[in-house]
Amino acid sequence: MQRRTYQGQAHLEATDIELPLPKGFFVHDEGASRPGITHPNEGPEFQSVDYRAANIYRNHVVRRAIEEGGMPREDAESFGDKAMYTSPFIQNIMALSGGLHVYGCTIRLKINLPTGPETHIHMVYESKGRSAIDTYIRAHEEYHAMVLIPGAVTSLEARICSERENPIDFSQTPNEEVAADLNALDVLRRRGLSLSESDLVGRKELDRARFIYEIADYRNLTYLLSKVSPRLADWF
Ligand SMILES: [Zn+2]
Repeated sequence: MQRRTYQGQAHLEATDIELPLPKGFFVHDEGASRPGITHPNEGPEFQSVDYRAANIYRNHVVRRAIEEGGMPREDAESFGDKAMYTSPFIQNIMALSGGLHVYGCTIRLKINLPTGPETHIHMVYESKGRSAIDTYIRAHEEYHAMVLIPGAVTSLEARICSERENPIDFSQTPNEEVAADLNALDVLRRRGLSLSESDLVGRKELDRARFIYEIADYRNLTYLLSKVSPRLADWF
């Protein structure tokens, strides 16, 4: 697991794109988790994505309490511990992970320091030890990060447009999850990788992303028309 912090310019590794960062922006690539693998030194790489995300949030709460609020460290630490049980952000991510497996998480945290405001974007993602699925999960999270970096999605669209015949308009996608899967599909194509049948079976965002990627069908017309008339669907 390699953790990297970028300032001034970020390199998103799976997407393989260089992005200028505005002043006060930091991108933290937290490296991959392999939860479920036991190891004598239980570092963050052996923790689940939701647990790591919750801890990143807790540490941010502690830092804000000290640096924005002037709270003594000891008090700030217990304030942070309390936030683990009371913050809606953590409740949300824990609730999500209770119902379904969380493969990745991208968080934006803001802090106002005497030197100026800072925005920190953290990407946490799981590794399954197979390149196609690992690349897919990572590229998906990188898209969420790009949404938070001014100008990044436009740069991504320009790159995709220069590399393939069908441009992609991310703003037309039904939601950010489909858009993130769309980037993941493009990254898999660039790297000559493909997902296996068992990977993410039943993930409906991926199905919708496939229609957009292959035939620029942003509203899933093919699917809707196939319900009406299978012949009509052949036209799209
Ligand atoms: Zn997502």
